[in-house]
Amino acid sequence: MLAPGPFPGGPSGSPPAAPPAAHRTGWIEVVCGSMFSGKTEELLRRMKRARLARQGNVLFKPRVDNRYDEVKVVSHEGLNAESIPVASAKELLSRVPPAVVVVGIDEVQFFDDGIVDAVEALASRGVRVIAAGLDQDWRGRPFGPIPALMSVAEYVTKLHAVCARCGGAATRSQRLVAAEGQLFVGGSAEYEARCRACFVPSPIAAP
Ligand SMILES: [Zn+2]
Repeated sequence: MLAPGPFPGGPSGSPPAAPPAAHRTGWIEVVCGSMFSGKTEELLRRMKRARLARQGNVLFKPRVDNRYDEVKVVSHEGLNAESIPVASAKELLSRVPPAVVVVGIDEVQFFDDGIVDAVEALASRGVRVIAAGLDQDWRGRPFGPIPALMSVAEYVTKLHAVCARCGGAATRSQRLVAAEGQLFVGGSAEYEARCRACFVPSPIAAP
């Protein structure tokens, strides 16, 4: 049974920093939310703590996201860390070195559905997997493999942004310019965080 939290060293409901000594199994953590909710900062915070504890770790991101940098995971706040861009879940799995005990994945919503089996395989062999990503697309719909990842995860952290219209707790990413398809890569020029009441599901003109 999972402890209800809070765990030492993190906000309420966040996972322990290391496996209990009694059983060396891995687990899956999902950090999700809208844009500007601090998902990447939270992922990098957890990765940094693992690094400080000298736990072998590696950070991946999907090759699709060239928003700020080819190799680094860069948050909107400019925090960054070296990461390995991979084209698929299969490639990710093949590039986890044997000694690694902590695997971070940023922008996990852009991976194929194979990412679910990949992180399950990693967790089953003792790896702590921390996967961060958008839980909803710009239409407010569940995003890619995130729903399945949340189901199999031991820990789910849902972060909120501040609604750009009313200051409430924002759970959605409002697209400000028209776009096609579910895939979106962009920053504060194209999106703002909004709460349920202020969110408009179809593309709207920029103010
Ligand atoms: Zn609002």
